[in-house]
Amino acid sequence: MDDVCLTCYTRMPDHSQRSACTGCEYRLRSWLRDLPHHYVILQTLLHPDTGPARRGGGGRAHAPLPVRVAALDLLGPGQPVLLDDPHGDQTGGIPMTALLMGWARYLAQEFPAVNRDEHGRPRGVTTCTAAQPWHGADVPGLCQWLTAYLPYAVTRPWIDDLYDQVQDLLERAEGITDLKPRARAMDAPCPQCQMFALAEYQEELNILCTECPAVLTPDEYLAHRDRVMPQLAALALRIITPAPQAAA
Ligand SMILES: [Zn+2]
Ligand SMILES: [Zn+2]
Repeated sequence: MDDVCLTCYTRMPDHSQRSACTGCEYRLRSWLRDLPHHYVILQTLLHPDTGPARRGGGGRAHAPLPVRVAALDLLGPGQPVLLDDPHGDQTGGIPMTALLMGWARYLAQEFPAVNRDEHGRPRGVTTCTAAQPWHGADVPGLCQWLTAYLPYAVTRPWIDDLYDQVQDLLERAEGITDLKPRARAMDAPCPQCQMFALAEYQEELNILCTECPAVLTPDEYLAHRDRVMPQLAALALRIITPAPQAAA
């Protein structure tokens, strides 16, 4: 197995069984947690408000579409692979359910399954024949199913394709729902560039700097903050406290 993460190319421990690092797994898990929220909002956005009839104005040559095409692109049925598009007239990508179901099927067909006889004794190992999401084959059910199999998925050589496609799906959904992951600015300055640019992101395992490539684990950040903040507080106090008047 490669010792470099296939999705972000960071170095992983030698002889790792993983194909993707813990940070990328955390991010993918966050995306699969967020997609069902977008799915609910997309459903409410599917039918545009028609609003009251207005007098005057330029008028329309035809009635407005009864659905938002961008939302329908994500919610509709479809193929889990893009069809040939020689004339470039496809607008959207793969709809949510089709893409997630395609990955669930693909993963299941690789996942080792132990065959058992009528007495429950193991009789060789093959692969599963199909995915059976126990909470349903809709977006929330499929996200839950894929999350449960993520520890297996991150050991497979196709993890970067799953990662890229789920990221793309989430970005398309965010483009319509306008819901972005939350970020929180951290108190302590970056240990590398010294800027006050460290932030904790909802979807990230680690604290990232927005000005340089610094990455700190939460424990590293806490240790760094405990080291530098007392010095910064003492410095700030010296700046705001007026120097004592010299004796006359
Ligand atoms: Zn990674
Ligand atoms: Zn920095």
